[in-house]
Formats: sequence, C-alpha cells, structure tokens
Amino acid sequence: MTQTAGDEYLIGVDIGGTKVAAGLVTAAGGITHQARTPMVANDAIAGLAAVISSIDSVRAAAKLEAELDIPISGIGICAPGPLDPRTGIVINPPNLPGWRNFPLASEISKTYRLPVRVDNDGNAAALAEALWGAGRDYRNVFCATIGTGIGTGIVFDRHIYHGRTGAAAEGGHMTIDYRGPRCGCGKFGCIEVLASGPSIARRASEKIAAGRSSAIMEQAGGRLDRITGEMVGRAYGSGDLLAKEVLQETALFLTVWLGNIVDLLEPDVMIIGGGVACMLQPFFEEIRNGLPSWCVNSHCQEIPLVTAHYGADAGIAGGAALCRSPVT
Ligand SMILES: [Zn+2]
Repeated sequence: MTQTAGDEYLIGVDIGGTKVAAGLVTAAGGITHQARTPMVANDAIAGLAAVISSIDSVRAAAKLEAELDIPISGIGICAPGPLDPRTGIVINPPNLPGWRNFPLASEISKTYRLPVRVDNDGNAAALAEALWGAGRDYRNVFCATIGTGIGTGIVFDRHIYHGRTGAAAEGGHMTIDYRGPRCGCGKFGCIEVLASGPSIARRASEKIAAGRSSAIMEQAGGRLDRITGEMVGRAYGSGDLLAKEVLQETALFLTVWLGNIVDLLEPDVMIIGGGVACMLQPFFEEIRNGLPSWCVNSHCQEIPLVTAHYGADAGIAGGAALCRSPVT
C-alpha cells in the first residue's frame, strides 16, 4: 500500500468478554493489520495486559512490513459498557467483572504516550460508518448493529451524540411490546429481545415446539436448543416457509422500531450492520414500505436504509474512528 507524506495511522481496539482484536487503521478508514488475543475477564491487570499485548502485536506486524515511518496518532478502544466516554473510565461491565471503575484510557495512554479514546461498540461502529462507511455522505446518521444483541449509535455532524452522562443511544433497549418477553436488561419487549440473532432463533424454536415443521430442525440435528439465528437465515435462503415467517415478523418489529427512530431523530440515513444484517437485507424494502404505518413523518420513505460498510471489523474501525472525533 502506498502512503503519502502527512499520512498517519490509528490503532483501533475492540474488547469483548473473551477476546481483544486490534488493528492498524489508515486515515481513510482502511484496516491494514489485525491481531487477536484472548481476553482475561475477571482480573483487571491481566485484562489490561491482554489489551497491551494485542496493540503490541499490531505494531510489530506493521513494523515487519516497514510501514511504520508513518506515525501512529492515537488509539481508540471499543469496550463493554457502562463506561464514561469523557474520562475513559470503564464503570462496571457485566462481562468484564475485573474492570470496576477502571481507568482504561489513562492506563493505555501512559503505556504508549498517545491520546486514547474509549467508547462502547454501538457508538464506535456508528462513528466509523459516519466517517468512512455507509454514512460518509450524510450529516445525521443512525446506525444499528444487530447480532447477539442490538447496539445503536447516533452521529450528528461527525460527532457521537452521548447525552448528559454518556449513556444515550441505547436504542436496542427501546420497548416495542411491553407484553413481550423479558430482555437481558430487565425490561420487557425491547427490540433486542425481539429482533437480535438469539431472539430470531427463539421464535423459530417456539413455532417448531408448537408443532410446525421446518428444515431448520435438520440443521439443528433435531434439537430445538441448538437452533441459531444463522440457521433460520440459511433455511430462509433455501425456501423454508417457517424461516420466512420468523424473518417477516422480525422485519415488522424493526419497522415499528425504526418508525419511532425516524419520528424522534429524522436521520439522513439509517445503517444496519452486525451478523444479522445480511439475513435481514432481503426485507429492507418491506421495512421501508411499512414505515408510513409506524411513523408520522411524511418523508420517512425518503430516508435510505442501507447495510453497514464494516462487517466483523466494525469494532476495530470504530475504535480508530474515536480518535477522529472529539467528545462533546
Ligand atoms: Zn433491553
């Protein structure tokens, strides 16, 4: 890859409960090197060492290719919330119990003598899409990452909207059906418990348990508890009617939800990413056609509904993007 004078690199880090992924990211949002390290969830110091080790691996890989006469200008980290994006302190993440009130940004900054930013994955992924991805031509961006959960981010004029304490944009926990199933967050009928990958699997298995037949059961080896969202997606691809019904219901839940989002924010673009996004893409048209029933905004169908540019690398790109946008 040819670099020109004045270029710089960013390091993006994506911390999960079981692994840390780090990558070297160009000023234009391209990821050139990646490294993965197992995460230590229950020990603060060992967890920090895992993050440092993943950053070191990326720096070493880049040096091997003699590209590092280009400076690294910052490190941005996606970490599990709750956290304070202004101070870079991780507060009490349920899946990283070792890090209670842990000053992640200042620890990493001390090690590398670089500016360090920390935010949650939903916000960071939205910023990467807004700066470099599917939202780069738009001012006001709403982005949802649908996978095992639903993370969301709101970006206005290339700045993440954080709210008063940094806890804004938890759009995955907006209740769509207050009589619905209980979400992991404790509330009932959040969009996350209706439209995430595991909830798609749950609704398929409930229909099969009620006596319906479906090709999904073959994929799951005859076991209801082995059904996954991906299996539902594959079965839909091969014409399975029950899978189609489950995905159509999912699309309806998302239509109701996005109708609320449009009425609240009227974004210039709505971006859907995450592992479930591909499986839902055939339903985007249906969602857009359904919006006027769930939205008072007469321009709602003019808002593009698009797939995210970044896939599994969204956390790395998102981390790096944080270095490009000051917290306001
Ligand atoms: Zn919830």
